[in-house]
Amino acid sequence: QVAPLAQVISREAAQNMYQPRKKFTHKGNYGHVLTFAGSKGKMGAAVLSAGAAINAGAGKVTAYIPEDGNVMLQSSLPEVMTLQSEGEDHITDFEHSLKDTVLCIGPGIGTEKDTCSAFAKAVIKQSSPIVIDADGILILAQQPELLKDLPKDSILTPHDGELKQLLGEWKDDYERLEKAQEFSKEHNLILVLKGAHTITVAGSSQYVNDTGNPGMATAGSGDVLSGVIAAFLAQGYDPLTATVFAVYIHGASGDLAAQTYAHEGLKASVISNFIGASILQLF
Ligand code: AMP
Ligand code: MG
Repeated sequence: QVAPLAQVISREAAQNMYQPRKKFTHKGNYGHVLTFAGSKGKMGAAVLSAGAAINAGAGKVTAYIPEDGNVMLQSSLPEVMTLQSEGEDHITDFEHSLKDTVLCIGPGIGTEKDTCSAFAKAVIKQSSPIVIDADGILILAQQPELLKDLPKDSILTPHDGELKQLLGEWKDDYERLEKAQEFSKEHNLILVLKGAHTITVAGSSQYVNDTGNPGMATAGSGDVLSGVIAAFLAQGYDPLTATVFAVYIHGASGDLAAQTYAHEGLKASVISNFIGASILQLF
């Protein structure tokens, strides 16, 4: 049974979710995001997810990347630290304690066998909610036994193609939502059903987003969202609030950017650069 009422996130609701920074604080108070992203030809996914985490206020961001991507990442994002996997063109291993970090895993990693093992090692080791996107979701669809090892309230951000891998086909929007609710309840996960009017599903609650525009249908747009969710988690927002607020701000950033760039001119890095402006515009 689908819960009949979905809450649309208003600007007032978003204002109430926002947690302003306090004066006597330092970067340690705003968390550490560890992105696990990128592979040869898709290093942009690592740059976009880690860059969005910095732009959305994470105190520190480290990008776990394949070795050959290091120069590109460090020159694109001077604020972000890197750790390199031994694999040169894709991530092949995972060595990190994960202590006090928020893991954002999946953008552009591919599904090579050793990447899948490194993915499994990371998610099994982590004890706080993880943001899982893109190829990370495909790996979960291939290895559903990993679902039981995910920390409660981890957040999956599939677009419809990825969602189909995870849940199978649906016949209409109603069934899509019903399946998502069942999945969310069964595995204690938050599901972000991306698209125009993204729906965040947490058990039988649903939150509908109405920021965003078709200009956001562009490569890397979702990678930015994953970094924003992780940044709010790192800053201490609870998992559901971090998710719903990030979806709102991501869309609002795209709306603001479109006023300058038009829908056609939007690209993921531009959306990311408008995150701060869209937070200012809340008030
Ligand atoms: P991805 O397909 O992973 O790059 O994610 C695309 C992102 O852009 C998601 O956050 C979507 O919600 C957003 N998006 C894509 N198309 C639209 C649209 N037509 N209207 C609003 N947001 C969109
Ligand atoms: Mg994506």
